[in-house]
Amino acid sequence: MGVVSKGAKCNVDGCDSNGARSLNTVRVEGAGLRVSGVGKKSVLCKEHYKEWKKESKDDRDLERARFDRF
Ligand SMILES: [Zn+2]
Repeated sequence: MGVVSKGAKCNVDGCDSNGARSLNTVRVEGAGLRVSGVGKKSVLCKEHYKEWKKESKDDRDLERARFDRF
């Protein structure tokens, strides 16, 4: 949360919105969002956070979604 209040931008590839949440990068990528140039934590804007939440309701859903996609 500290990162976000300093005005960080969304880390998703091609997105330049203001960050709303910071999340573990592994979990962000696990939900199918592509982030670039980040460390352990990624910053997501409101819209991408919504998207992330949709994709990662819980881990079992996430695994299933992965298999469906490929
Ligand atoms: Zn974004």
